[in-house]
Amino acid sequence: MPLSVPPDSTLGPLSPTDPQRMFRRWWKRLPPARQDRVATLAPLLSVLLFLAAIITAFWYLRNEEHERELESVKRDTEIAQQQIRLRLIENQEQLVRMAREVVTRAIDQDEFLGQAVSFARERPEVVSLAWIGADQTVRQRHLSPNHPGELLRLAEPPPLPNFVGPLVPTATALQAGGEPAWAFAAARDLRQPVYSRPFEGTGALMVFQVHVPLIDRSAFAGTLVAEYAVESLLRYFVPPEVTRRHAISLIDGTDRVLASSVSREPGSSGQRNSFVQEVALAPSGNGLVVRGEGWRTSIGLIGNTLFWMVVALSALTVWMLLGTWRHMHRRSQMQTALISETNFRRAMENSMLTGMRAMDIEGRISYVNPAFCAMTGFAEHELIGRRPPFPYWPPDRTEENTRLLQQELQGRSPAGGVEIRIMRKEGSMFDARMYVSPLIDARGHQSGWMTSMTNITEAKRIRDQLSASHERFTTVLEGLEAAVSVLSVAQGDLLFANRSYRLWFGADSQGHTLLAGSAENLSVLREADESVDSFGGLPAREITEAAGDAREVFIEPMQKWFDVRARYVQWTDGRLAQMLIATDITSRRHAEEQAAHQAEKAQVTSRLVTMGEMASSVAHELNQPLTAITNYCNGMVSRVKNDAIEKPDLIAALEKTARQAQRAGQIIHRIRAFVKRSEPQRQPARARDIVEDAVELAGIEVRRRNVHIRTYVAQRLPELRVDPILIEQVLLNLLKNAAEAIDNAQLPPSRRHIELRVVPRYAQDEGGVIEFSVTDNGPGVKDEAMARLYEAFFSTKADGLGIGLSLCRSIIESHRGRIRAENLYNGTVVSGCRFAFTLPVELPPTVIEGATEAAAAAVNRTAPAVPASSLTENA
Ligand code: ADP
Repeated sequence: MPLSVPPDSTLGPLSPTDPQRMFRRWWKRLPPARQDRVATLAPLLSVLLFLAAIITAFWYLRNEEHERELESVKRDTEIAQQQIRLRLIENQEQLVRMAREVVTRAIDQDEFLGQAVSFARERPEVVSLAWIGADQTVRQRHLSPNHPGELLRLAEPPPLPNFVGPLVPTATALQAGGEPAWAFAAARDLRQPVYSRPFEGTGALMVFQVHVPLIDRSAFAGTLVAEYAVESLLRYFVPPEVTRRHAISLIDGTDRVLASSVSREPGSSGQRNSFVQEVALAPSGNGLVVRGEGWRTSIGLIGNTLFWMVVALSALTVWMLLGTWRHMHRRSQMQTALISETNFRRAMENSMLTGMRAMDIEGRISYVNPAFCAMTGFAEHELIGRRPPFPYWPPDRTEENTRLLQQELQGRSPAGGVEIRIMRKEGSMFDARMYVSPLIDARGHQSGWMTSMTNITEAKRIRDQLSASHERFTTVLEGLEAAVSVLSVAQGDLLFANRSYRLWFGADSQGHTLLAGSAENLSVLREADESVDSFGGLPAREITEAAGDAREVFIEPMQKWFDVRARYVQWTDGRLAQMLIATDITSRRHAEEQAAHQAEKAQVTSRLVTMGEMASSVAHELNQPLTAITNYCNGMVSRVKNDAIEKPDLIAALEKTARQAQRAGQIIHRIRAFVKRSEPQRQPARARDIVEDAVELAGIEVRRRNVHIRTYVAQRLPELRVDPILIEQVLLNLLKNAAEAIDNAQLPPSRRHIELRVVPRYAQDEGGVIEFSVTDNGPGVKDEAMARLYEAFFSTKADGLGIGLSLCRSIIESHRGRIRAENLYNGTVVSGCRFAFTLPVELPPTVIEGATEAAAAAVNRTAPAVPASSLTENA
């Protein structure tokens, strides 16, 4: 029955008359561990107390019995002593009577014998009776036939005259101090009966004597001596019930046992297991003591079977209690573990977001966890005990849900769970997935079903979205003109290929390998782990270069060019894979090739055009040496004819002629070299040589226009790697444009010059370059023309073709250089125009800076009209 303890506030102070309530309260306040301990120790304590009580009881009873035994021994000893004493007193009285008769009546010896015989007959304890005169002579005596020793003595003739043996001491014997003599003397002196101390009589019989003095008119007339056998006294006068109970013995003053009722030598008095009681045998006063000895009839505590049984049972109880305690301890440990396990599971259950519902075999809800309640919006008490249809079933799906429940109860639910629709209490719906597993009770029987439920609305939405996006993704990929393929690096499997890939290369990885360029690339990746970055297993080299890794690959069998972009990706299963996107660029490639071809043709054509334009100038240029040659030749011919020429003059004239011919040849050679159609080819070239050739060629045209070219080429320029003819063509074009601008502006002769400068430079965005610049003092480029300068066929000149600058730019850009144009200003007025192009070189920045400063200084010297800042602004 559970205890109902009222709260402390209402209880008030406890009355001492209510110990039970106090105990209950104390008990309830104990922590469970202490309760267990108390519950275990209390029985143990009571068993020990019981054992102690039993021991005490045993001890008490044993003491009681000892007391009783001792009392009994005492009484029996007293009885024995009393009996013997009474007998001795009676005998003594008889003897005293006899002694008086002997004295008063003066009976003779025969009468005495008769009396003695009757006396001895009735008294078996008496060994002999004698009348001894004052002179210690035996007057008469009687030996009792009751004693064997006596019989022995009867058989032989009584040595009367010598009767001073041990029985009756002679004077000598008395003098010698024997017991009878001592008694005789004492009786004579004291005038009253005296008992001798026991001594060994005839036949080793222990005897003692009583001497009754014969007083005849106050004169000592001898004694009557009765000799008692100690043994007989004991045998005849101690009642048999006494001897049956206890050992009664007679001992003398020296503790010697003279006679005993038991055959055992009871010498060992004071033994642990015996009680001894000694009483002096009055009235003898001769040191005879009656000793009663009793044996412990109760066995000692240690020997008591009952006691040992109690001890054994107590020990058994204690042992069993300890066993029970250990068992309880184990059980409580298990219980603690069970409680913590239960708490753990409950906490887990309560904390998880999965709804849990248990049903019994009939489909009645027996348990729901908080998550289930939170999901459905129903409280626990609204669900527990409910039978289908459950309140969270949407009304329009009752039939379907009933079918699913039947399936669930029959254990046929799919392992992957079923999708159902749940209606919350407030009416809203959500999708859930339910998993069912059998509920097994402690006995191993199935007691119902456990269902877990997760809300999959979000998951479903994401899944739908994912599949939609996947569809979009595949649609896009499949629709791509480019071939997309993914190959696993380790196994070489084709993991993905889109429609274009399949169309071009089929469904195997052959195409991928072809596009990847070298199959070794992949195999190297497969084998050499050190080339693989530890991050994500991607190859370290490829990660950094991946972005810019666009290759143009020609696939021989298909006769197609592809722009291939490769990337390393981590495939969905974590494998390292290579993705290739190959775009068919065959047509672009063709167009490019054609364009390049045409550009080349255009360059050649342009050079031819330039030469065509320069034809008159060239003719004029050639005319001079040819005229000179003609003049020299004519002069020499006439002088030779007249023999008016000396040999040295002739040689000098011939040499002059040859020089002129050489000059003409050089011009022709330059022009031929310039216009000769050749494949563009890069080669090591010095800027100075290029400039020289260009200025030489341009000079032909420029001179015709009265324009002067100033050239400055910086010292120690690094070597270029260019096609010198093409660079020469660019320079020629710029110089020609500048000369035309000056000529068209009809500038005065002082301003008719062009400045050509070649300096090294270091630009942040370009690195080390050599800059070629052509500066003129012309009218500059109009703003609207500036934007269209490099357009093909853009020209402001009436007879201009407008392809010069366009070609210049394509040539410079094909050499990875840049070309730019700018107007120069003198205040707000345009004072000229500057065209500059750069060609990349390898050179250290210090060289460039030093050279730039030197160049700037040189420019300042030669062209003071041009502000230094505008020239060096890019340095
Ligand atoms: P063309 O010389 O045949 O006209 P270009 O392409 O060489 O073709 O030049 C295009 C235009 O650029 C020229 O028509 C001219 O207007 C302008 N131009 C070129 N160089 C200069 C210059 N140094 N000064 C002024 N204008 C120039």
